[in-house]
Amino acid sequence: GHNHRAASEVTSGFVGGKVPLGLKRKGLRIVVTGGAGFVGSHLVDRLMARGDSVIVVDNFFTGRKQNVMHHYGNPNFELIRHDVVEPLLLEVDQIYHLACPASPVHYKFNPVKTIKTNVVGTLNMLGLAKRVGARFLLTSTSEVYGDPLQHPQVETYWGNVNPIGVRSCYDEGKRTAETLTMDYHRAAQLEVRIARIFNTYGPRMCIDDGRVVSNFVAQALRKEPMTVYGDGKQTRSFQYVSDLVEGLMRLMEGEHVGPFNLGNPGEFTMLELAKVVQETIDPNASIEFRPNTEDDPHKRKPDITRAKELLNWQPQISLRQGLPLMVSDFRSRIFGDRSDANP
Ligand code: NAD
Ligand code: UDP
Ligand code: UDP
Repeated sequence: GHNHRAASEVTSGFVGGKVPLGLKRKGLRIVVTGGAGFVGSHLVDRLMARGDSVIVVDNFFTGRKQNVMHHYGNPNFELIRHDVVEPLLLEVDQIYHLACPASPVHYKFNPVKTIKTNVVGTLNMLGLAKRVGARFLLTSTSEVYGDPLQHPQVETYWGNVNPIGVRSCYDEGKRTAETLTMDYHRAAQLEVRIARIFNTYGPRMCIDDGRVVSNFVAQALRKEPMTVYGDGKQTRSFQYVSDLVEGLMRLMEGEHVGPFNLGNPGEFTMLELAKVVQETIDPNASIEFRPNTEDDPHKRKPDITRAKELLNWQPQISLRQGLPLMVSDFRSRIFGDRSDANP
């Protein structure tokens, strides 16, 4: 642990319910980059509920103040508008580094900026972690496996990635971010953690981010046809956001560097997903086929044996359980009946 560093942090190593009886756990100071985004804001909720002091660093490229607004006024919460491509000085115990556009539509919008965020942004946050001796967690992605030739994907698989394609700014960017993270670990003895996140959905996703779950849900709610790209037989595995956040926190608090796959092994074709959305929202929702995008991976499904064994983690929420929770959030944001609500 890192409770050796300062007297004021003596009890801060006791986390995740492991506080000895009678000893009050002292809050950690935690930075969440990208904390105003979809995953980040749910993580911030959990950390705040645990009693930690949280500093959100976000440039609001895809994140929104509404996602964290319910913490305004809480003395344990700070929000800094900052681009991680620029250096940043802070004093903290842990850094959850999430800042990076995640949906293909967003990361292709300005590919050079995406690479800078992944490379220079990650370098800066690692430099910060090194200066203050903080523990650093990188949110990498299943896209490091590219269009995988191994199925399901195990962490030891090196991937099948096109270095010059339209997705490369993201997947090669994240691969470099992983390399940087491991090099700081080896060269500067930094405490690091790497998560490889598989497709995640839930409340607060950007409605128009172009990802398949947000598209289908928004389309079905608006009575528009669901747009299936290609033949719809490509597969993905969809994880509910609370499962991911639990995995990220276990990874941070645990003893293992990783990388760890964090995803739900339930595998669906896009046509099967469309069926689940029909069952959840509207049995009459129709389907429309569109040409697929370039370099679209055919199959994706995590092997989560490592996370099960070493983090004692596995997803609890199936697609059929999680989807309705997202649908009610989308419904209220699209139709405006509770537009300022915080799910
Ligand atoms: P998101 O777009 O909702 O959140 C990303 C956040 O980072 C946003 O708030 C955005 O404004 C911020 N950001 C982007 N560039 C920044 C910069 N240069 N400086 C400061 N802030 C910046 O996406 P998300 O789904 O919450 O993803 C969070 C992390 O998880 C990302 O690193 C992403 O690559 C990773 N991930 C997500 C998924 C998924 O399915 N959601 C899958 C794999 C990996
Ligand atoms: N950095 C930062 N905040 C800090 C310390 C470093 O943003 O508190 C940045 C720094 O500007 C540099 C990067 O992190 O661009 C890497 O820092 P490091 O000290 O590892 O490398 P160096 O500055 O020696 O290249
Ligand atoms: N997709 C689709 N219809 C849409 C959006 C996406 O059929 O409206 C497909 C897309 O071609 C891909 C899968 O859904 O095969 C997942 O796409 P997404 O952008 O959600 O995530 P990623 O490709 O990063 O896994």
